[in-house]
Amino acid sequence: MTIVVRRLLTWLGAVTLTAVAVLAVPTAAQAATPAWPTLSGGTSGANVATAQFLLRHHGQTLTVDGFYGSGTVAAVSAFQSGRGLAADGIVGPLTWGGLAVTVDVGANSNAVRALQTALNKYGYGLTVDGIWGAATTNAVTSFKANRGLTGGTTVGATTWQWLVGDGQGGGNYRLVIGRSVLPRSEYDDPHHDYPAIDLPTVTGVTTYAITSGTISHVGGGCGYGIGISGDDGAYYQYCHLSSRSVAAGSRVSAGQVIGYTGNTGNSTGPHLHLEVRVNGGNRCPQLMLLALYDGASVPAPSTLPSTGCAY
Ligand SMILES: [Zn+2]
Repeated sequence: MTIVVRRLLTWLGAVTLTAVAVLAVPTAAQAATPAWPTLSGGTSGANVATAQFLLRHHGQTLTVDGFYGSGTVAAVSAFQSGRGLAADGIVGPLTWGGLAVTVDVGANSNAVRALQTALNKYGYGLTVDGIWGAATTNAVTSFKANRGLTGGTTVGATTWQWLVGDGQGGGNYRLVIGRSVLPRSEYDDPHHDYPAIDLPTVTGVTTYAITSGTISHVGGGCGYGIGISGDDGAYYQYCHLSSRSVAAGSRVSAGQVIGYTGNTGNSTGPHLHLEVRVNGGNRCPQLMLLALYDGASVPAPSTLPSTGCAY
């Protein structure tokens, strides 16, 4: 469990370049395109606002408020009728396919507002002004590069699908800390001596169950540690927490708060140590965490490599 705090190290970059490259490249190339989400009356959020901007782009009149109310249902139905689609007022794959226009650098439209809204789900912090300037170019370039998407800056159906597709990949999994806590580059770092990962956070960062399962408490060098015997058959161990918020033997769902990061046990600085074990053997968590960070399909734990993420 000993951790060498990564941000103090400059030599690490050179030592770990090979392993990082091996891990980072296949993530983008292997992940499947996420399915279009289905939006219907009563739902809310960034995907609804994205669809509303796209409806406006296609000439529908409605308020963009991120809430799928009666005005949105009516606008969707009208759009569907105009396209020869069944006018059920629900945005499913066929309707998304009609809404998702191709956009590129220099555009100034409600489709760009939709794009900026969707990109902001991933932390890009763009101004939603409908003007595709340098900041939007940078965000699109980064978003597509992280997923291995081709075609330059062009945002077509596939990129839209990645943007609005199921934001947490497999649905049964959640990132272990808030997405804004650490940059993506922290999720492909190898561990110091065996397959695992150390996420360098400050003390007190809210920690979430990666998937549903049954809790056990772990001590010793793990400090205030938590094990999750996942419903997927894998075992997940979190170490060095400052406190736990779930009792041993209790059930958790994916994304449930289980504790807070810290520096307990055999640890030389605040961080979250995470292990994934399948049939008792440690696997590399990096591809799983990167997929969760990217909102991509989450690889099954049994497909994770057991070598290549330690130095
Ligand atoms: Zn560790």
